[in-house]
Amino acid sequence: MNNELLKQLCDATAVSGDEQEVRDILRATLEKSADEIGFDGLGSFIARKGNRGPKVAIVGHMDEVGFMVSHITDDGFLRFVTIGGWWSQSMLNHRVTVRTRSGQHIPGVIGSVAPHALTEKQKQQPVEFDEMFIDIGANSREEVEKRGISMGDFVSPEANFSKWGDDKIVGKALDNRAGCALMAELFLSVNNPNITLYGVASVEEEVGLRGAQTSAEHIKPDVVIVLDTAVAGDVPGIDKVKFPLKLGSGPAAMLFDKRYFPNQKLTALLKACAAETEYNVQCCIMKTGATDGGRYNVMGGGRPVLALCLPTRYLHANSGMISENDYDALFTMTRALLQKLDGDTVAALRDFR
Ligand code: ZN
Repeated sequence: MNNELLKQLCDATAVSGDEQEVRDILRATLEKSADEIGFDGLGSFIARKGNRGPKVAIVGHMDEVGFMVSHITDDGFLRFVTIGGWWSQSMLNHRVTVRTRSGQHIPGVIGSVAPHALTEKQKQQPVEFDEMFIDIGANSREEVEKRGISMGDFVSPEANFSKWGDDKIVGKALDNRAGCALMAELFLSVNNPNITLYGVASVEEEVGLRGAQTSAEHIKPDVVIVLDTAVAGDVPGIDKVKFPLKLGSGPAAMLFDKRYFPNQKLTALLKACAAETEYNVQCCIMKTGATDGGRYNVMGGGRPVLALCLPTRYLHANSGMISENDYDALFTMTRALLQKLDGDTVAALRDFR
């Protein structure tokens, strides 16, 4: 895997609705090998390679969960709203990056109350989002404004990409820069003259799969592979029946989520490709969420879709964790699948007689 590309993508600040930094990295990365690079009307990134045969799209959403500055107090603190799904307990005292309208990165920290100043009762209660604030070390509203920050600026967790042990990668926004990096590496590596390959990085997935909807209408692909992350349950305190995925045991085929079922024949084809590569495929079900597959499957008459996910610890928090081995396995089996597709195989996926 290309660690440097994933680091660059993870360290970018690109909260839903403000994805420019990731768009720029992907354009620079894929420009040379794409026949065309374009965008849908919301800003989803779309690279195309080839112009014959069925349209096959590989998709990773480029946005991350984060915050938006909603108010600046007279004494120089930032109030904010959450963007995407957060749990209040995974936020306090974490460092963040405010991205100003001119693209400056301003560091800050989500303030917390010292335990000395809390009653026993207060310590038992979670802090509400509305009570939280970001401290950038300013003394007044004027000082905040002087740093270029204004209401509506987007805020992400602070960049913190690192490699731990033999195979673990830790960082913010692995959901879903890991999918973006895989999409980019696959786009660069796959050369199949029998398909038109689209490498897509969709916007605004975390707030309702919006870029999936717009890019599906824009491209009208015949078949779609979604690359994303899914909850790993291999840590203390998680229900292992509901969340069976383990880091390092292979990528996961999403069998059912809030908005999607995979195409059965496409799932079987992926498993056959995985068997050839000797990598394992895990399976998961997510009734509490969805991937971009939930729009690609239904837009414009519908199409075969399969969502493939990297097991990920600590999703939607400051420091997620994946295994490089799962990343490599997902790359290898998806590459094998993409090399196999042609007019006949894609027609067979779409044949329901
Ligand atoms: Zn995701």
